[in-house]
Amino acid sequence: MSEGIMQADKPDTVVGGETDLFSKFDDLIAMRQGLLDGGITDPFSLVMEKVLSPTRAICNGRDTILLGTYNYMGMTFDPDVVDAGKQALADFGTGTTGSRVLNGTYQGHKECEDALKEFYGMDHAMVFSTGYQANLGIISTLAGKGDYIVLDIDSHASIWDGCKLGDAEIVPFKHNDIEAMEKRLKRIPEGAGKLVILEGVYSMLGDVAPLKEMVRIAKENGAMVLVDEAHSMGFIGDNGRGVVEDAGVEDDVDFIIGTFSKSVGTVGGFCVSNHPKFEIMRLVCRPYVFTASLPPSVVATAEASIRKLMHGSEKRAHLWENSKRLHAGLKALGFQLGTDTPQSAIVAVIMPDLTQGATMWEALLHEGLYVNLARPPATPANMTLLRCSLCAEHSEEEVETILGMFERAGKMVGII
Ligand code: PMP
Repeated sequence: MSEGIMQADKPDTVVGGETDLFSKFDDLIAMRQGLLDGGITDPFSLVMEKVLSPTRAICNGRDTILLGTYNYMGMTFDPDVVDAGKQALADFGTGTTGSRVLNGTYQGHKECEDALKEFYGMDHAMVFSTGYQANLGIISTLAGKGDYIVLDIDSHASIWDGCKLGDAEIVPFKHNDIEAMEKRLKRIPEGAGKLVILEGVYSMLGDVAPLKEMVRIAKENGAMVLVDEAHSMGFIGDNGRGVVEDAGVEDDVDFIIGTFSKSVGTVGGFCVSNHPKFEIMRLVCRPYVFTASLPPSVVATAEASIRKLMHGSEKRAHLWENSKRLHAGLKALGFQLGTDTPQSAIVAVIMPDLTQGATMWEALLHEGLYVNLARPPATPANMTLLRCSLCAEHSEEEVETILGMFERAGKMVGII
């Protein structure tokens, strides 16, 4: 499962008649303490003291290049986006104090949904408070008891949690394995409801799903298809509509899930669809109904950013250049990477183990570079990764500087 940091390692123990509900985390607590006792800075509690731009921040008092954010298109400081947020804050106040289905739908929420409909060329768009909630809500509401969900084993935590909440039969298949997916689909009893869930880009290794074949097979087997485009929206595809657009399967995908917390540069989640009955979701989807809607300033920044991303082809081209340059440079230095070729804005560097990974992470931070340290259960196959995610605002020189930092840190830690 991707993105989870914490996981219960063992059952609770009973001390003096009281069950210590924390004891299931003892192994994790010990592992973390072991790293800290070894003198390593906690990689999961970094503070950005000041954010200077989409690609730079002050961390531990030093100017640091950011190579571990999801700010793919660098929209967080875009002047039009910032102005839209300020204006909405002044005009509509700080928050809606209510659910979308009661007092929490403002003009801005509708305009943001209109922008999404235009961006994707779809009939319906529904904005949630986060991408996590979009997956949780759409999946659990669509597929309930007696239905079947066929999903990639490396799916994001929010997808797994959506499956659990909905109580459908869960049928995972090996990551990106077309035949395994087909076999699972063919075994589902005749007449049962079927939902295939895929991601455009998988966030740990940065690899892309073979959507063309997978979507065709799903449709041949009578399944509805949902694709999470969290890491591809804004960047992949001629219009930034994601891997679905790039693979030419837009007409066959029933639901696209996305987030505002990556290329859009703010916070929020959404689902777009052409299904004629889609609007009923607004009344039956619990993670949409039973939570407060996004603040007006947030939906205003999202709308402004989405509209700019429609015309972002130059930025997209530069981001591809950055991704290719970093991938080729790290490969030439001798690092082991998550993919043979650059497939997205994520370049994952595979570390021999957690201790060396954490040491390398810290060495890079001392160089003035922030990347993500990812470990199991967030990562597939028990891997420890230094996950690099590029931004369209990184300059060519910055990427060269980053490669120099990797070379020095890698040699110091003994990884290359
Ligand atoms: N789906 C995927 C594939 C993700 O990687 C993430 C977040 N990392 C989400 C959904 C959730 O998005 P949000 O941050 O908006 O909750």
